[in-house]
Amino acid sequence: MDVAATRDWVHGIAAAIDEHTDLLTQLDSAIGDADHGANMHRGFAAVVAALEGREVATVGDLLVTTGMTLISSVGGAAGPLFGSAFRAIGKALPDPNADPKQLLVGLTDGLAAIQRLGAAAPGDKTIVDAYAPALAAFEDELAAGGDLVCATSRAAEAAEKGMRATAPLVARKGRASYLGQRSVGHQDPGATSTALIFRALAEAVA
Ligand code: ADP
Ligand code: MG
Ligand code: MG
Repeated sequence: MDVAATRDWVHGIAAAIDEHTDLLTQLDSAIGDADHGANMHRGFAAVVAALEGREVATVGDLLVTTGMTLISSVGGAAGPLFGSAFRAIGKALPDPNADPKQLLVGLTDGLAAIQRLGAAAPGDKTIVDAYAPALAAFEDELAAGGDLVCATSRAAEAAEKGMRATAPLVARKGRASYLGQRSVGHQDPGATSTALIFRALAEAVA
């Protein structure tokens, strides 16, 4: 994955968030405070603006900028969580080109950053419930000899499956956890954004 594909990934996320802002807002209005769509939209608009006209030499430089911009522009839980993830992914990719194994290391570091900051485990109805299966699918596909296109496509499918599987869960982290049992039956907003992020990655490298 070179710098141009990485730029396509980030722009693809911004476009997907733009297209799904209302959905993310609706999901967060059911089990949160109805700002997830606006938070993500503000964050990725700021990222696009920060990258505009900026020369970046490495994949990591672009992704660290993405992460830092999310952290500084988004209030709420998801901004620092996704921001820390992109910063960690970027730190693992210091070259103009990232091979699939390096990307696996980066994505692994990204999930670790989210869990270090948010302390969510799988099943807590968060970002982790889409990210962890996506990462596992990515790793499996590489281990089976798959290339970057196959691995990112499997990861996107797994993220979407994980996203849908958050609906029956009881939220144990973040605002939705205040609802307890009443959070059941609603898909998690942050897991939904995570699925958009992995789908955009698959599209950027296809
Ligand atoms: P806020 O809850 O502060 O309004 P957002 O609405 O932007 O922030 O983001 C809510 C999403 O953040 C949730 O749907 C959930 O996926 C994610 N989230 C909240 N807390 C955590 C956590 N501790 N670990 C991982 N993800 C979390
Ligand atoms: Mg919210
Ligand atoms: Mg909020």
